[in-house]
Amino acid sequence: MKIGVLALQGDFAEHITMLKCLNVTPVEVRLAKQLEGLSGLIIPGGESTTIGKLAVDFGLMEPLRTFGKSQAIWGTCAGAIFLSRDVRRHQPLLSIMDITVERNAFGRQVDSFEADLDIEPLKKATHTSTPYHAVFIRAPFIQSVSGKAKILSALPDGRIVAAQEGKLLATSFHPELTDDLRFHEYFISLAK
Ligand code: GLN
Repeated sequence: MKIGVLALQGDFAEHITMLKCLNVTPVEVRLAKQLEGLSGLIIPGGESTTIGKLAVDFGLMEPLRTFGKSQAIWGTCAGAIFLSRDVRRHQPLLSIMDITVERNAFGRQVDSFEADLDIEPLKKATHTSTPYHAVFIRAPFIQSVSGKAKILSALPDGRIVAAQEGKLLATSFHPELTDDLRFHEYFISLAK
């Protein structure tokens, strides 16, 4: 199975390392033609305005939207912002997932934090029972989900940090910066 990682900006290399551990073939994606033959695509964390501007310049906006109609896409942090319908400011968005997102919602870089999350579908798909230790770096939170999008995980105060809409996945945290492979495993199960 081939899984692409959008490699315009951000921590795509870390996602590629995780995918290699799971015996799928990672493919760096910078051009539309590199989407051919992929079962899924990961959009990494980084800076969502930069990723969006580069995606426009590289002619990737429409090809990515078309790809997301049939294949799995997972956005982590900036990637989740890029997938969303609305961030209440002007920047290029794919707008293919029915979530609205608030950028930098937990504060600045120094306010980055980690938290244990109980994510039932993840535990079920990976046949495990331990909580998921999530890393948040200048993270967005998901303000609302609508339509077919569902909440996958929220913090104890109710702030939504993961959502799913069919084969589309958005997390405000960074599974690629841990050594827990379960989120990547979960995404691969969606892409199958
Ligand atoms: N703060 C970044 C943004 O708004 C996201 C940060 C991240 O991806 N870790 O795009």
